[in-house]
Amino acid sequence: MVTVLERRIQHDYAVGHVLGTGGFSVVHKGVHIKEGSPVAIKTIKKLGFLQAPSFKGGRLLPPQIPISETLLANEILVMKHIVEEVSPHPNVIHLHDVYEDEVGVHFVLELCSGGELFDRIVASKCYSEAAAATVIRQIASGLKSLHASHIVHRDLKPENCLFLTDEDDSPLKIMDFGLSQIEGVTNPIVGMFGSIDYVAPEVLEKRLVLPAGDMWSLGVILYILLCGYPPFYARTNREKQALILAADFSFEDTWKTVSQSAKHLISSLLAYDPHKRPCAAELLDHPWVRGDAAKQEPLEQEIFQRLQSFNARRKFRAAAFASIISSTFMFRTKKLKSLVGYQDLTEEELKNLHEYFRKICSNGAGATLSEFEEVL
Ligand code: ATP
Repeated sequence: MVTVLERRIQHDYAVGHVLGTGGFSVVHKGVHIKEGSPVAIKTIKKLGFLQAPSFKGGRLLPPQIPISETLLANEILVMKHIVEEVSPHPNVIHLHDVYEDEVGVHFVLELCSGGELFDRIVASKCYSEAAAATVIRQIASGLKSLHASHIVHRDLKPENCLFLTDEDDSPLKIMDFGLSQIEGVTNPIVGMFGSIDYVAPEVLEKRLVLPAGDMWSLGVILYILLCGYPPFYARTNREKQALILAADFSFEDTWKTVSQSAKHLISSLLAYDPHKRPCAAELLDHPWVRGDAAKQEPLEQEIFQRLQSFNARRKFRAAAFASIISSTFMFRTKKLKSLVGYQDLTEEELKNLHEYFRKICSNGAGATLSEFEEVL
């Protein structure tokens, strides 16, 4: 049972360096003072604690924006529910403690030091359908457990899947339950959804939020894993939405070497009707997911290279999103719900963003301005 501890986290944990930042959060490495065990501490600031952008190690860090009480309360509720109903599960992040102080809420989480899903794949020496099936199996196993406990993730995407350790056989963990819903308990955060690339048609249409929405997202992840580009690709969000709402995707030339079993599976996960998609338990029983029908030989070099460049662009976009939702003007104009919509920005906002990125790029973020412009 997790209770929110109303004392300073520094009583129990030594807070170390920054592991990463999200739009609403900053994650530090930490060590339990008495036990010496490493953890990740995710801090979400409350409203009223605006902070200007700051420099750290010569790099410009995005300003951390306070999150609304509703979102924060939702994340706490879902995380507690996971501890009570799901944990421990090898493929779901474990929450140790929650602290609340005057600054905000600190989630003490299992430390995942193995990196993000796609980073590990593009760095791997031998990547095959069988390796992709191992990934899908783990996410499906986590989802099976979450769905059995009536939790719908609602923001399943590669950046929310981290490896626990650097070991080759490290478990993959599903995390970031900020937008999640407990069926029949919490209200979906109205109008808000995760990254549009992974979002199901019924979510865009603001119909019922169902576990099947997560299965759609998993279908999108699988599609990218096997060809290196997303199934619903368009220059603008509006066009992307139209493709998603029509479940309009295809298996082009690149797919000729991919097994039929994988293609059937993707088609079933990306079915417009949520009731026609397999549930997580059914997926785990699928011959391709079990590994029996997945090809063992390495995927074509061309696919692997496309996956690498998709991942590079994805990381760059993630930095841009963090910047967008960190900007107060986005809050004021209530554009929070279109987190991913560059195309929705006004000229003025775009100019601000551009200027912000010019600063980031000239401060060692490892990306160039022209890369940013290409993304835009
Ligand atoms: P947002 O909340 O805006 O969707 P996000 O999902 O990237 O963004 P967080 O979940 O707060 O935000 O994570 C920020 C970064 O911190 C992640 O990209 C990841 O690199 C790192 N991180 C988060 N949780 C852990 C963890 N348990 N162990 C190690 N690193 C973590």
